[in-house]
Amino acid sequence: TKWVYTFGDGKAEGKADMKNLLGGKGANLAEMSNLGLPVPPGFTITTEVCTYYYQHGNTYPAELKGEVEAALAQVGQLAAKSFGDAANPLLVSVRSGARASMPGMMDTVLNLGLNDETVEAVAKLAGDRRFAFDSYRRFITMYSDVVLGVSHHHFEEILEHYKLQKGFTLDTELSADDWAALVVKYKEKVNAELGKPFPQDPHEQLWGAIGAVFSSWMNARAITYRRLHTIPESWGTAVNVQSMVFGNMGETSATGVAFTRNPSTGENALYGEFLVNAQGEDVVAGIRTPQDLTEKARIAAGSDKPSMEKALPDAFKEFERISHVLENHYRDMQDLEFTVEKGKLWMLQTRSGKRTAKAALRIAVELAAEGLITEQEAVGRVDPAALDQLLHPAIDPKAERKVIATGLPASPGAAAGAIVFSADEAEAWKEQGRKVILVRVETSPEDIHGMHAAQGILTARGGMTSHAAVVARGMGKPCVSGAGALRIDTAAQTLTVNGQTFKKGDHITIDGGTGQVLAGEVAMLQPELSGEFATLMGWADKVRKLKVRANAETPADARMARSFGAEGIGLSRTEHMFFDAGRILAVREMILSDDETGRRAALAKLLPMQRDDFVELFEIMKGLPVTIRLLDPPLHEFLPHTAEETAEVAKSLGVDVERIERRNKELHEVNPMLGFRGCRIAIAFPEIAEMQARAIFEAAVIAAKKTGEAVVPEVMVPLIATKAEFDIVEKVIRETAAAVEKETGAKLTFQVGTMIELPRAALRAEEIAKGAEFFSFGTNDLTQTCFGVSRDDAGTFLGPYVQKGIIETDPFVSIDVDGVGELVKIGVERGRKSRPNIKLGICGEHGGDPASVAFCHEVGLDYVSCSPFRVPIARLAAAQAAL
Ligand code: PEP
Ligand code: MG
Repeated sequence: TKWVYTFGDGKAEGKADMKNLLGGKGANLAEMSNLGLPVPPGFTITTEVCTYYYQHGNTYPAELKGEVEAALAQVGQLAAKSFGDAANPLLVSVRSGARASMPGMMDTVLNLGLNDETVEAVAKLAGDRRFAFDSYRRFITMYSDVVLGVSHHHFEEILEHYKLQKGFTLDTELSADDWAALVVKYKEKVNAELGKPFPQDPHEQLWGAIGAVFSSWMNARAITYRRLHTIPESWGTAVNVQSMVFGNMGETSATGVAFTRNPSTGENALYGEFLVNAQGEDVVAGIRTPQDLTEKARIAAGSDKPSMEKALPDAFKEFERISHVLENHYRDMQDLEFTVEKGKLWMLQTRSGKRTAKAALRIAVELAAEGLITEQEAVGRVDPAALDQLLHPAIDPKAERKVIATGLPASPGAAAGAIVFSADEAEAWKEQGRKVILVRVETSPEDIHGMHAAQGILTARGGMTSHAAVVARGMGKPCVSGAGALRIDTAAQTLTVNGQTFKKGDHITIDGGTGQVLAGEVAMLQPELSGEFATLMGWADKVRKLKVRANAETPADARMARSFGAEGIGLSRTEHMFFDAGRILAVREMILSDDETGRRAALAKLLPMQRDDFVELFEIMKGLPVTIRLLDPPLHEFLPHTAEETAEVAKSLGVDVERIERRNKELHEVNPMLGFRGCRIAIAFPEIAEMQARAIFEAAVIAAKKTGEAVVPEVMVPLIATKAEFDIVEKVIRETAAAVEKETGAKLTFQVGTMIELPRAALRAEEIAKGAEFFSFGTNDLTQTCFGVSRDDAGTFLGPYVQKGIIETDPFVSIDVDGVGELVKIGVERGRKSRPNIKLGICGEHGGDPASVAFCHEVGLDYVSCSPFRVPIARLAAAQAAL
């Protein structure tokens, strides 16, 4: 096995498609080198070494040392320096680089190779003693923190103390001698903390750093990040060792990050930030405010600090050229890191840039328009789940805005919630069902769980590429970063701005599109879907095989579903229509009356309301299929809960309160989810099914007359386990249809089908399909009954199951392909045996989950049905499944 791959000077042993072996960073450094771009020479230690390391008790393969030595020698030759040499030392950076980018999760060491001897050589060669000692103290800080476990705050304290003593306020006021004095103090601190000196041998330093990168693969932050992004532990990380270039060698040196297109809006314009006379992490750290790259951006931002275009014109032109080369080569928007050392540009990284959903759409559509990618590739470029971001509400322009501060528009969308100051609190409050805005000075990887829990994130410090901004954009959460006017007092749990103080729990609203922070909860509007959205959806619709319907019962939801492109209603839950204030009493009467006469009286009140509901649905859906499910009530939700409610029902039914109380007790169930629900209601009380069927058919006649379009209702029986159950309910439906036909003289076209949501129904699908004209897989109940896990109680124990790896994802979110999926497959196969053209769909929550939609495509369902907001997600996911 080859463990080490070199790159530099227009050549490389690796290339872009070797990400599995070299990690993303290493593979792209090799590729850039192959393209002849200026990349500081270096080498990559493969991910296989990481795997080996963990499989062999944290040891390396025997050949590694030799390969690293040879690679170091080659790098030294290209850089015309020598690692560890006292007169002409090679300094290197050591960075991690996993297959998938894990921002902020892993550690970096810069300036490695410096010691008491080489620092003098660097001072002499650079002609800059201050630079050399500044670099050395940075190295000691970073190396101690990352490799030796001596936290950087120790060094910051020493520095602060030193500055105070000398009356300095800025780091720039410190001279070479000051830094040299601090280096001594830093080394003393390391000695005091560890009981041994800071390592002076560059080789020892290097192996320490390599080991630290490999161990950081298993640190808590990395593990959390992998869990949240489902990155397997087995992938491992590579280590990149690269010759240092310096952005901190004076006013003609700089360091920066850039995107080839705007990652927030998708606009085709170079976008980024840089800092003159700065090194590596200074830009993202948010300590100094970075400058704009282009003049255009500088003017737009109203900044008086010169742009890179102005300050370093030659390096900027070269960078602009390279950014085009890379975007054309990778055929995607790139995220770039660069350093300018004394006027010379060096590329340190390229990768596909993270972007908002809005930007992803625009970039995909524009790249296709530019001919760089095909329409189908464009469809594949947008993460369906990320479309959620576009469907985020925005602040109503008519609403009053009490702007309390303005920061950077770091991630779009508006969010409102109660202020919390810690990630743990955000999580705890969310669990109590509260909406929160996480307010931090700045965020770090330790805050990720809180960012997930929050509606939005607000920080006082940090730019557009700060941790908060990058992570929020990835999550699709609104974020305002760098709102410098905020004074956050975490101890007092207050936020003060311009004399106004907000406490924990006070409500604020943030607008991630403008950067505004507003007092209180501001009214929001649903988003308009842009032109690119429609274009991409059009391309998606051309490729997908699955139809997409919506689960909807209210007119508002049905209209929303249509506007999102739903091709019908796959599930109308009639019990949801009964929660209305004006109806609940009649429903209670129906449930609680203990004879048929009482029930029929209540049903007579409900019939016209149900009929009107259906007329409206049919009108909105204009000839598209509408599946209406017969009553499937969790009875406990409908029973009266208070004495007042009980009295009300008793009065309305004309019986005494005790009778109602007795009936209420009779109906009480230990396990309502497995109780008197679904078709069991229709079997016990056929008059309920009869009323509903009548409402459906009468509505179909009325709506057909009104719209002039044929209405073909699909009447669905819930929760059957046996064909006999289906037969009984079907008979009631068909007899009612015949009666309505006779009364109205109209000819009805309709289908009677069933939910498949119990394992027995899936197993007996062949028999059931002899009667049922369609199946709709109810994967909520099917998951509940297949796992024997209560869907209402799963929250308390499924979390640990996911954490312990017993299950990969919550099976109520993403379909369990192996188990529940197997039941679906069986249902499909057996159903088709007796009715080859049976219509097949899914209407559980999984219908809007991209991975589950892919599964539905594979097993050959005809349609998925999901909540209206997820219709676009399902359309795109269905298209990607078909690519
Ligand atoms: C299901 O069980 O998947 C379903 C769609 O029905 P409900 O969620 O109403 O039980
Ligand atoms: Mg169900």
